[in-house]
Amino acid sequence: MHGPRAQPTMRHCSLNSSMTTEVTDTVDQRTRSRMMSGIRGKDTRPELLLRKALHRQGLRFRLHRKDLPGRPDIVFPRFRSVCFVHGCFWHRHENCRYTTTPATRTEFWTRKFEQNVVRDSRSADELLAAGWRVATVWECALRHEPADAIAARVRAWLEGDLPTLVIPDEPERT
Ligand SMILES: [Zn+2]
Repeated sequence: MHGPRAQPTMRHCSLNSSMTTEVTDTVDQRTRSRMMSGIRGKDTRPELLLRKALHRQGLRFRLHRKDLPGRPDIVFPRFRSVCFVHGCFWHRHENCRYTTTPATRTEFWTRKFEQNVVRDSRSADELLAAGWRVATVWECALRHEPADAIAARVRAWLEGDLPTLVIPDEPERT
């Protein structure tokens, strides 16, 4: 997922201008409330790529289980393990080139981002305390490493006994 300015325009819309404005406003409003609530997008493309690759690894999983802390993107009940696929921008991947901060309303965004980071960390703590293992795959990894290679690492981790896994090892710096 990208920053707040990465929204598609309505330029191919054939509606008259007043309706176009209305539709655009609706999109903006939806985008805004999404930013306000800081929720994670479901079924974003990198997550889908990883899911398909995990499936090719023979792994079976459930999605977005609401009854678990942080509503993990991917849940492997058999391994009592979860995997978060985190957008670097929203979830503030440390030292990553995609972890930019908007130039306007910087204070607002900084506060919002801090809440996301605190929430993520709390969710992971709660999961670990409840005996779940927690993997985090940052989206930048899926830009630079084949999804199948990442899925293979996740599978190896699932079959091992380490409580956590973070991919990539090092973020892509600017
Ligand atoms: Zn990153």
